Amino acid sequence: MFKALLLKQEENKKVTATVEDLEVAKLPEGDVLVKINYSTINYKDSLAITSSSPIVKNFPMVPGIDFSGEVEETSNENFKIGDKVILNGFGVGEKYWGGLAQKARVKGEWLVKLPEKLTQKQAMAIGTAGYTAMLCVLALEKQGVTPDKGEILVTGATGGVGSVAISLLSKLGYTVCASSGREEYQDYINSLGAKKIINRSELSEKGRPLGKEIWAGAIDSVGSHTLANICASTKYGGVVAACGLAQGFDFPSTVMPFILRGVSLLGVDSVYHSIEGRKEAWMRLEKDLNLEHLTKMTQVISLDEVDQVAKNMLENKTFGRIVVDVNL
Ligand code: NDP
Repeated sequence: MFKALLLKQEENKKVTATVEDLEVAKLPEGDVLVKINYSTINYKDSLAITSSSPIVKNFPMVPGIDFSGEVEETSNENFKIGDKVILNGFGVGEKYWGGLAQKARVKGEWLVKLPEKLTQKQAMAIGTAGYTAMLCVLALEKQGVTPDKGEILVTGATGGVGSVAISLLSKLGYTVCASSGREEYQDYINSLGAKKIINRSELSEKGRPLGKEIWAGAIDSVGSHTLANICASTKYGGVVAACGLAQGFDFPSTVMPFILRGVSLLGVDSVYHSIEGRKEAWMRLEKDLNLEHLTKMTQVISLDEVDQVAKNMLENKTFGRIVVDVNL
């Protein structure tokens, strides 16, 4: 038996989330059985757990798009018993039973080996949010955005993607301007390395097609008018990496920044990103993430607390990263 958070849909379509004891035999098919030690709550997990968005495709479902743990059984030749592994995405926690549990059976091709210098807990403190922040940084780098090009804007600064992005960029020598709606977290944001903080209200309303050229690049986890305003204020030849929708999934922009200033808008998806790209991102996280910052941005909770914390996250009452110790 193992403990798992289980989402069930009642006849009236209401979704409940309860921690239950399940039989290992109930796990779906897969060639690797993992003993999970840590999982995490990302924004998408919160949407799934609270049923605020149709993330979960079938019920009952164990949510959790991430986990870290040790291989317990395997018929996949790339893994052996005891290997420490990470899983991010691939529809786990959406279509397939996920990480908010003490065990998972998955396809070995979805797993990445834990980088040597990271613990399983640190890997989940990073989680999909942090790995996506790294993908965004890599996207800027690959488009030639170097620290000398100018200021980089990071939105959703107190959130998971935002916090890790600020920390990574500052360590890499970029000058970071953070956008946040929460003034009480200014010290926290500065401590991650931001040089300047603007109130997110400066970006969240409908703006002009083109504004003053300010940023050399941006990492946006917010979407909607914020993303449109970022594009309008990005410098000639600048690059914007877009990965999120905390404000909204709309994008009320014009083509002006793209055709008059050669601004590039790069979409970043973590869920079905290639294994090679994941390995590169985890290798860079191992090398470039300030682990003191990671500790500062992380809270640890138990499976029993997940339901409430997921609700808090959607009300913008959490900050940084939430690790779930599934054995607490
Ligand atoms: P968090 O909840 O940790 O952070 C979101 C942050 O966005 C908040 O902390 C807040 O920062 C800001 N925010 C919240 N509501 C609003 C609003 N109405 N308008 C403007 N800003 C707002 O979430 P994550 O960091 O885990 O995820 C952020 C986004 O990125 C989500 O939309 C998520 O779905 C997406 N994402 C996408 C991935 C992909 O593969 N493309 C992978 C991972 C995440 P502050 O209070 O500082 O303003």
